[in-house]
Amino acid sequence: MLEGKRAVVTGASAGIGEAVARDLAARGARVLLVARRADRLEALANDIGPNAATLAIDVGSPDSAQRMLDAAAAQFGGADILINNAGVFRVGPLDSFDLDGLGPMIALNYEAPVRACYVFARAMKAQGAGAIINISSIGANLTAPGSGVYGGLKRALEIFSDTLRIELAGTGVRVGIVAPGSTATEIFDHLPADRRARATEGLTPLAPADVAAAVRFLLEQPEHANIPHLRIYSSGQQH
Ligand code: NDP
Repeated sequence: MLEGKRAVVTGASAGIGEAVARDLAARGARVLLVARRADRLEALANDIGPNAATLAIDVGSPDSAQRMLDAAAAQFGGADILINNAGVFRVGPLDSFDLDGLGPMIALNYEAPVRACYVFARAMKAQGAGAIINISSIGANLTAPGSGVYGGLKRALEIFSDTLRIELAGTGVRVGIVAPGSTATEIFDHLPADRRARATEGLTPLAPADVAAAVRFLLEQPEHANIPHLRIYSSGQQH
């Protein structure tokens, strides 16, 4: 079902994006690996083999969506699948939240996937087929001290994503969301130690491959079916 499909995965140099790229490539898809760290992308592409290509860009810049589509067209002749995964997890309480980081976080976690959705959805609609999956978070649906900006942006992405799903109904282009809980990736390295401990204490976090399997579950639905939202928790996680 994924054999020969042309996929673009953002944030493919680490964590969930890397696992999704490996998972899709293992099933015969061609994957455009997108992130900033060119060395990591090249190493992954070497591992995957001829079905991988790389694009080292800042996804948070306004022209990233068009550059990704152009690269997919140049490498593969187009795109069938877009996985909007790149994101940062910046949290902080009222007194110390880093306001200088606000703009870049909005650009990467919200504006970039929205722009990519529009740019790719137009191309996919014209070809009459395609799938877009936006990686959200269980944080989109809970209120937690210090997480207002992160959760708010993921909530906004979910509302945008489901609206786009409705706008594209009947066109052959499907849009869905995968919202993971705590997953063992580098994302927690950027958190203060106490916040990092709270995110993972008392539970076995998901592995990136678990989230990749959830993404694949959406992509492998028959053409007449669409799962608009799938949450996946660590079984030890309450919220
Ligand atoms: P990681 O920190 O492990 O990986 C983040 C990826 O995003 C890297 O490939 C990084 O590559 C890329 N990235 C970051 N900034 C940019 C940028 N400006 N331009 C291009 N690429 C960028 O994170 P995860 O794998 O954990 O997170 C992936 C997604 O999953 C995020 O959207 C996150 O919000 C979401 N998520 C994660 C959870 C978790 O517990 N891990 C839980 C719920 C949701 P590079 O630095 O090379 O650019």
